[in-house]
Amino acid sequence: MTPDSALLLLLLFAAAGAGWFTARMTAQRESTGVADANSDYLEGLNFLLNEQPDKAIEVFLRMVDVDSETVETHFLLGNLFRRRGEVNRAIRLHQNIYDRGDLPKTQRNRALKALGDDYLKAGLFDRAEEILHELSGKTEYRRPALEQLVGIYEQEKDWEKAIAMRDQLASLSDAGRSTVVAHYYCELAEAAMDAGDRAEVAEQLRRARAADPGSLRGRLLRARLATDEDDHRLAVRMYRQALEQDPAFASIVLPPMRACYESMGDLAGFEQLLSEMVESRPGVKPGIAYAAIVDEGFDDPVTAACVDEFIDGNPILTDLLEILRPPDADPGTETDSIRRITRALRQLARRNPTYRCQSCGFSGGMLFWQCPTCKTWDSTRPIARFQFDATIS
Ligand SMILES: [Zn+2]
Repeated sequence: MTPDSALLLLLLFAAAGAGWFTARMTAQRESTGVADANSDYLEGLNFLLNEQPDKAIEVFLRMVDVDSETVETHFLLGNLFRRRGEVNRAIRLHQNIYDRGDLPKTQRNRALKALGDDYLKAGLFDRAEEILHELSGKTEYRRPALEQLVGIYEQEKDWEKAIAMRDQLASLSDAGRSTVVAHYYCELAEAAMDAGDRAEVAEQLRRARAADPGSLRGRLLRARLATDEDDHRLAVRMYRQALEQDPAFASIVLPPMRACYESMGDLAGFEQLLSEMVESRPGVKPGIAYAAIVDEGFDDPVTAACVDEFIDGNPILTDLLEILRPPDADPGTETDSIRRITRALRQLARRNPTYRCQSCGFSGGMLFWQCPTCKTWDSTRPIARFQFDATIS
């Protein structure tokens, strides 16, 4: 017996007990319908045990007509069907409760919420959206309904509507506007970029900045826009801010940043900037080393020094360097060995996932600002390390 079947059985026994108790209490007041209610429960239970859920549902739907006290059992049963993925059955039960005009309003609202959950589970977003909008007008369900609507609009990539829902959620608390809104504007900016509408890109990025002045994604997009408009100085400033904000993103920031300096004919300026950065923020060195290892385009002494330091700090790599060094070579002349190690590390990096979600552990070769698995924003980060064991199979 599966855990769900066991639960179902338990639920039905509990329901039968409750039905019997209710029936007895009712019987003390009036002597009609007692035997019917009790035998209906047993009949419904029998159908469920014999794997005939539709016949069981028929019995339970009939029971609502007999005694509105049994509505709690219907909720339990409906939610159980939804959990088992039998959404159509859940919808039948919940719709039946909702259609009962003689039930208290609280019960009908509960049924509406359950129906919204059913349609969401079934992926019928249009129906769910309609119900959730209705629920968002009811104080008790306002917040969960708005949160579910955000989920729908994010999935449908309807960013304008997602922004509107987030704003309504913000009005419910003192916490202010969510920084996720900046991501929505960035999404709109990226769409405008694809459409070649730079004015629209600039406007959406201005909004992203207003929503979250510290948005890393916003900075990277402003750098891209500035590059498209040949404003390389502004692009460099944005990339620098992004790198200082989060050195782990060096492998994303440094290649386009170097390209900007190259376009300005000022690679010495790039080197100068890197020198200043490693001087003032030594924490960026591992990020720079990783970027220089995975990207072949770096040939300046600063990134080379960062790579050397990275290798020196790793016992496996220093051992490897020792092995590769020719017996008659002087210390400090291992350039060729370092190049070979770097090449091997680059191959490792290409085989291994490059990004990982800090929230659920999902990893892959692409940066997702919203994790495709757990749907958390800003949780996916560059891994920036090499998994040596991954090559042994
Ligand atoms: Zn995740």
